[in-house]
Amino acid sequence: MSVIAANLQAVKNDIAAAAQQAGRSPDAVTLLAVSKTVSAGRVREAFDAGQRAFGENYVQEGVDKIAALDALRGQIQWHFIGPLQSNKTRPVAEQFDWVHAIDRLKIAERLSAQRPAGLPPLQVCIQVNISNEDTKSGVAPAEVPALAQAIAALPNLQLRGLMAIPAPAADPAAQRQPFAALRALLDQLRQSGLKVDTLSMGMSADMDAAIAEGATLVRIGTAIFGARR
Ligand SMILES: *Cc1c(COP(=O)(O)O)cnc(C)c1O
Repeated sequence: MSVIAANLQAVKNDIAAAAQQAGRSPDAVTLLAVSKTVSAGRVREAFDAGQRAFGENYVQEGVDKIAALDALRGQIQWHFIGPLQSNKTRPVAEQFDWVHAIDRLKIAERLSAQRPAGLPPLQVCIQVNISNEDTKSGVAPAEVPALAQAIAALPNLQLRGLMAIPAPAADPAAQRQPFAALRALLDQLRQSGLKVDTLSMGMSADMDAAIAEGATLVRIGTAIFGARR
């Protein structure tokens, strides 16, 4: 078994254990393999080991990799998880399946306008600055409901839920707090009538805490592909 295949299996085992611990089904948690800085050849290795959803952070690197793996188009789900500038929305709208880090209406409007006819709606999440950090990107929690309503009204996007990258915390209880807050915010959107189902939260270092608080998608890079250079 390749190192990547073995790592994938170990991460899946960890997800299953964390889900079980939380009284949730392991199938309720999607594993997104974060492949930023990882070559197309190594993504292919993960694909051959059964992985189907991949996350990219940089537009040019992402579209180059999608092109290099064109033979697998339709079999891979490509997620754009990095911050997105408004002058770079077009290739993302045209080539990706998901966008996780929407932080203003203008970006969402451009993605909707640029999504090609004939493709399914782009699946999107709003990035929330859940730890209220000055430096972090993402929308303040209080602004999420209005932005969510506006995005849900756009024709070529489907609002799926919320995403966050909390400030690092060492102990599990402290890690769980911001994830619980994101979950409460998603519940609030549901109660307002929006059909949202996705909590994109948890990375290699805080995956268990995120799953305990209801993550439906964890974004894992290092634990699958090793440390980035
Ligand atoms: C890099 C990255 C990840 C993966 O982080 P790891 O610590 O390598 O698991 C997840 N989400 C986002 C938004 C990232 O940029």
